Amino acid sequence: MADCLFCRIVAGEVPATIVAETADTIAFRDINPQAPVHVLVIPREHHTDIAALAAADPGLAGRLCADAAAVAKGEGVGGAFRLVFNTGAEVGQSVFHVHCHVLGGRPFTWPPG
Ligand code: 5GP
Ligand code: ZN
Repeated sequence: MADCLFCRIVAGEVPATIVAETADTIAFRDINPQAPVHVLVIPREHHTDIAALAAADPGLAGRLCADAAAVAKGEGVGGAFRLVFNTGAEVGQSVFHVHCHVLGGRPFTWPPG
């Protein structure tokens, strides 16, 4: 999608600090990190959110989660990390290309605010 920021990162039209790539996914550092480790993992293919992705291609949704866990390990936080898929503007989704936040490197509270 030409007007999608994360499709533009996939296409190399918008710069990003890429930390990992697979055939299906890319992982890059969040521009406004909320933790010492804050990486976004996205499918190269455009899907609006995790619900749409899981419905369209559950295998890709699974690979996205596996790649997110591999990123946590690669960032040195494989033993304790949080994965977040904001789904819907009301809960904070601001980019409507599915992305998994990989967060770690500091304590987190539960439940989230
Ligand atoms: P959401 O709020 O949709 O769950 O998460 C979107 C995330 O994308 C935010 O954490 C925000 O900081 C990040 N973000 C927005 N624009 C850019 C950008 O141009 N580059 C990078 N690397 N991250 C971005
Ligand atoms: Zn997109």
